[in-house]
Amino acid sequence: MSEKIVKTEEEWRKTLTPEQYQVLREKGTELAGSGEYYLLTDKGVYVCAGCGSELFRSDKKYESGTGWPSFWEVVRNDALETAPDDSDGEMKTEVLCARCGGHLGHVFDDGPEPTGLRYCINSVALGFVPDEECA
Ligand code: FE
Repeated sequence: MSEKIVKTEEEWRKTLTPEQYQVLREKGTELAGSGEYYLLTDKGVYVCAGCGSELFRSDKKYESGTGWPSFWEVVRNDALETAPDDSDGEMKTEVLCARCGGHLGHVFDDGPEPTGLRYCINSVALGFVPDEECA
């Protein structure tokens, strides 16, 4: 995998929007249903808004009813890192971009088969690269 990206918080503040900074660097959560990718069904790849690393493909995205973009599988196992998170009094598993360390969301074990996983990801932590039309 590609090299890790390490920036100071000052540098992140310059390159991210305030909304992106609040989620990616301060582990914020966007309002449910507010994100631009929640209902997107276009074909393409979702990348980290912090560093551009490819994270999820549209064919592994599904409507979970939660208000956040949800995926049942990651592009590559080494694209993400996880960490225990009990910050709101409930034990959850945080999902971070393995390349830049940005907070993306959480992963739960109530997703669809075949993985049974539900990656619950903030839209604002993502970018979207549509597939090229093939002639
Ligand atoms: Fe990243």
